[in-house]
Amino acid sequence: MKKFVTLILALALTLSLAACGGNNASPSGSASSAGSDAASSGEAGFTTAVDGVLSMATEATFPPYEYYDGDAIVGIDVEIAQAIADKLGLELQVTDIAFDSIIPGVQSGKYDLGLAGMTVTDERLEQVNFSDSYATGVQVVIVKEGGKVTSVDDLFADGASNVIGTQTGTTGFLYATWDIQDAGLGEVKSFAKTTDAVEALKNGQVDCVILDNEPAKALVAANEGAGLSILDTEYAVEDYAAAISKDNTALLEAINGALKELIADGTVQSILDKYIGK
Ligand code: GLN
Repeated sequence: MKKFVTLILALALTLSLAACGGNNASPSGSASSAGSDAASSGEAGFTTAVDGVLSMATEATFPPYEYYDGDAIVGIDVEIAQAIADKLGLELQVTDIAFDSIIPGVQSGKYDLGLAGMTVTDERLEQVNFSDSYATGVQVVIVKEGGKVTSVDDLFADGASNVIGTQTGTTGFLYATWDIQDAGLGEVKSFAKTTDAVEALKNGQVDCVILDNEPAKALVAANEGAGLSILDTEYAVEDYAAAISKDNTALLEAINGALKELIADGTVQSILDKYIGK
C-alpha cells in the first residue's frame, strides 16, 4: 500500500473531518458475550426482523467486500456476516440495495444490519449504531491515462475545474463535495454503482473517481487495458463497521460479542487475507 500523503490533502482531510466530526471513533457500545451457542432470537436476548434470520443489506459493486459471483453475492462482508450468523444460530440473508438506502433500511428495521464496507462517521452515528470495526479502508483517486488529473494536487490547484465521479452517499462523495465542489474547484457526479462511476471515467464523463482503495484496486484490475490507475496518494483512512438500528442494542451487543470472538480467533483476519493480497 502506498504511503505518500500530500500536505494539501492532509489539510483538506483535516478540514473535512473537523467539519463533519467524521473522525470515526468506534461506538462506545461495549460488547457483551453472545456465546457461540446462542440460540435463536428470543432466547438469545435479541430480536431480528425475521425470526431465525440475520438480514444483511449491502451494495454489491464493492469488491472484494461484496460483489457478484454469478448470481451469488460474495466477498469479505458476506463471509464475516455468515460467521456472525453462525455464531448467533441464525440463517444469513443478503440483499443488494443502493448504498444510500442501507442506513434507512436498517433504521426502519427492514434489515438487521448494513454491512457494506461502510465507514463509521459521526454523521452516520446519529442515525444508527455501529459495531466494533472489523477492517479499515482508505479513500483513493482513480484516473485515466491521458486525462486531466495526474496527481491529487491537480484536484486542489487554483482554478481547478474537474468533474469528480463518486458513488452516491459514500464518504468519497462527501469529501469530493466538501473539498472540491464547495471550494469551487469542480463538480461532483455521483453514481448508484461504483462500476458506473468507473465506466464514466472510461468514457471521459468524469476526470477521476474517488473510491475506497480495495474496490478501486479490484475495479482497475477488472478493467485492464482501459488505462486506469490509482494515484499515489491516500486520502482518508477509515474504519469499516456494521450498521445496526439504534432500537436494537441487544443485537448490537450480540454482533459485537460474535465479532470479538471472530477477531480473537483469527477468523476475520483470515477472511481479509483470503480476498486482499499483500
Ligand atoms: N466506505 C465508503 C462509505 O462508507 C464506501 C462504501 C461503499 O461504497 N460501499 O461511504
